[in-house]
Amino acid sequence: VEVHYGPVCQVCGRFLFYKNQASISCLECQTKKPSLARHRSLGPYSGKLKEIIILFKYKGYEVLSQHLAALLYQNFGSGNGLFSEIDFILPVPLYPRKEKARGFNQAELLARQLSKLSGLPMLNRTLVKIKNTPAQVSLEAKERELNLRGAFAVRKPGKIRGRKLLVVDDVYTTGTTLGECASVLQKAGAEEIRALTLARA
Ligand SMILES: [Zn+2]
Repeated sequence: VEVHYGPVCQVCGRFLFYKNQASISCLECQTKKPSLARHRSLGPYSGKLKEIIILFKYKGYEVLSQHLAALLYQNFGSGNGLFSEIDFILPVPLYPRKEKARGFNQAELLARQLSKLSGLPMLNRTLVKIKNTPAQVSLEAKERELNLRGAFAVRKPGKIRGRKLLVVDDVYTTGTTLGECASVLQKAGAEEIRALTLARA
């Protein structure tokens, strides 16, 4: 698996392909306030990492969640503050009917393993998907945003009020999904939202 060891934006985790100081953030994070306090991914959604994610999500190799979560924890479990002071790990939810059809939520499997590895509790079904939305890949950026508006909700917001949360997902595409999740969690009173994903498309 090609893990990206080069420089990244210290806020959004975007891979930077120029020499940079460790403390610096990308232009976008400097010009507008990002919805995620911090986000990291293992590497680009390509090559071996992409193949493994496809096996994991679509081909029935759910057992890969253990290896993928271990890889995430090896790289981000300590040293860069992604897990420090986190109160709960939350998976990005699937629409219930979609989860039933697939048999599992890939983000939940990863979050569960990360919870085991870190000892931090996972909160499942607190952040929920209440609107079924077509696959994001087939849509333009603006459509994705409209499409996902109102798609997520928080059940029992008392649980996350004032808390620091780490939201986990498999692939980060345009950021619309995580942005929407962060926005509803923030509205529900979460103090800080960070994200961890396997790959960036
Ligand atoms: Zn950035």
